Amino acid sequence: MYQKIIDLTNKIEDKIISQRRDFHKYAESGWFEMRTSSIIAGKLADMGYKVLTGTDVCESDARMGLPSEDELKEHYQWAADNGADLRFLEAAKGGFTGVIGILDCGEGPTVAMRFDIDALGVIENKGENHKPYKCGFSSVNDGVMHACGHDGHASIGLGVAEVLMNIRDALHGKVKLIFQPAEEGVRGARAIVEKGHLNDVDYLLASHISDRENDEGSDLIPGSYGSLATSKYDVYYYGKSVHAGGSPEKGDNVMLSAATAILNLHAIPRHSGGITRINVGKVTAGTGRNVIPDQAKMEIEVRGETSEINEYVKEYALRIIDAAAKMHNSLCEIKAMGGAQPLNSDDELALKVKDVCEKNLKEIKVSSILKSKNSGSEDVSYMMKRVQDNGGQATFMRFLTSTAAPAHARAFDFGEEVLAKGIKVFSILAYDILNDFNNNHIERQLI
Ligand SMILES: [Zn+2]
Repeated sequence: MYQKIIDLTNKIEDKIISQRRDFHKYAESGWFEMRTSSIIAGKLADMGYKVLTGTDVCESDARMGLPSEDELKEHYQWAADNGADLRFLEAAKGGFTGVIGILDCGEGPTVAMRFDIDALGVIENKGENHKPYKCGFSSVNDGVMHACGHDGHASIGLGVAEVLMNIRDALHGKVKLIFQPAEEGVRGARAIVEKGHLNDVDYLLASHISDRENDEGSDLIPGSYGSLATSKYDVYYYGKSVHAGGSPEKGDNVMLSAATAILNLHAIPRHSGGITRINVGKVTAGTGRNVIPDQAKMEIEVRGETSEINEYVKEYALRIIDAAAKMHNSLCEIKAMGGAQPLNSDDELALKVKDVCEKNLKEIKVSSILKSKNSGSEDVSYMMKRVQDNGGQATFMRFLTSTAAPAHARAFDFGEEVLAKGIKVFSILAYDILNDFNNNHIERQLI
C-alpha cells in the first residue's frame, strides 16, 4: 500500500503543480479566500467528500481581524469574475471562507489534517529571475501575494484528498481535511476550533513549507516546539472634540487616554514564570493642531511563554486601557485581531512520523532534529491545543526545500518538488494510523 500511495502521488504531481500555480496567480488574503475556497470545495465534492463550507466551518463571532463589509463585497465580485466555482462561491460571501472535507470510513480514530490557504499583503516581484513572473503565474490580485507557501499547502491538501479517496477501502476511521483561512495574522484557526471541529480529533497533522537552510539537505522535520502565545488587539478611544484655545475644558481628549495607556502598557511588570512581551506598534489620533482630538486608534500585541503568562499580560493590558479611558473621560472599544497558543508537537507522534517515513518513504530524508524551534506564531496551535487537551496527539511538521527568498519577501518562491513529498508524507501517515485502528487507538479523556 505504501508503494501504491507513492505511485498515486507521482501520477497526480503535474496536476498538483498546476493547481499550486493557479492558487498563486489568484492570491487572496485572509477572509477574502472566496475563489480559493470555492475551488477547493468543488474539487472535494467532485471526489466524493462530504464538504462543509461557509457558516458551517467558522464560528462567525470568533473570526478575528475581519476586513470591512465593503471590501468583502467588492472581493466577492472579483472572485466571481476570476474563475471561482460558482456552485460554492455563495457560501463564502461575507468572509465565510475555509472548507472542511470529511471522508467517513467507519469505526476507528479521527485523523485531521490542517492546510492553510491565505496569501499576504505583499507586492509580488516582477523580475525575470522570479519564476512565477517568468512562467506567467504571478499574482493578478495587485498587492496580494502567496509569499509564505500557503498556495503549496492548499494544493498538497487537494493531493492528499485524492490519494486517500483512492485508498479509502483500506481505511478505518474518519479523515478530516481542514482548509483554514486567515492564518496570517493568526486570525482564522480559533473560529474553526470554536465551531467544535477539533473536539473529536485523535490525531492532528499540520505542516509548513520552509527553507532548508543548513539542515544537512533533509526534507522533513517531524515536529516543532516553542513560539509564544499571543493576543493582538485594535483599541479605539472615543472622546469629544472642541476648540483647543476656546474651551478645552469642555472636550474629552482621547490623545491623553492613548498616551497614558502607551506608557503604562510598557510598564507592565515582567513575570517570573517565563518570557513576556508587549508592544504598541501603531497609533493614529487627532485631526489638527487646534482641535481637542476625539478619536484615537492603537494597534497592540502581547505575548507570553505559556497561555497563562500571555493571559497575565493580556488582563493587565486590558485593565490599563480601560483605566486610561476613565482617567480622561473617553470611551474605549477593544477588538480582538488575532491570537495564538504556544506550540508543542507530541513526541510520540513526531517519532511516529519519523519511523513511518524512514521505513516506507525512502525518497525522503528525515532530519536528525526531531522538533525544530518555531520562531513566529502559528495559529494551528489553537487546533493542536484543543486536540491535546482532549487526550489526542498533534504535530506541526516542516517540509524543507530551497526557497528563492525568505518567507514574506516579494521574491519568495519554493521548489515545487516539495508538493509531491508533502502529499506522500500526509497520506502515508493517515494510512498508517487508519489502516489498523486497534493498534493505534488512543483513549481520549473528554474534558
Ligand atoms: Zn505561513
